[in-house]
Amino acid sequence: KWCKRARRGAVQGGDHMFTLDENGKRADVCVQNGKGLCHIKHLTDREGLYGHGRMFAHVTVDPGCSIGYHAHNHETEFYYIIKGEGVFNDDGKEVIVHAGDICATGYGQSHGLENKSSEPVEMIALIVME
Ligand code: MN
Repeated sequence: KWCKRARRGAVQGGDHMFTLDENGKRADVCVQNGKGLCHIKHLTDREGLYGHGRMFAHVTVDPGCSIGYHAHNHETEFYYIIKGEGVFNDDGKEVIVHAGDICATGYGQSHGLENKSSEPVEMIALIVME
């Protein structure tokens, strides 16, 4: 698996810590008909989530870009904001989110996130399936 090949030597005798290398999957994609392209760095794959998740990724939303509003059924997505300030649409209600905020969306709820600031928004996105 690509994620294990990238293991850092710092952890003696284990393979619990690794760092992404050139083989890590990265994508610049339009997410859910949002504005512009979001930068996605996948931190593991489905196998790494034992089939219970479908994404664990570092996501960067540039100024003026957004993740379009969309629903999650039979799964929950968590956004853990690491950097910047975003306008999070929490199932129809807009709230400003900052580093340290956790946004959870599931069971038919919807969400989206727009970056109306002048700095990138960085977050970790995790989708866990029911
Ligand atoms: Mn989502």
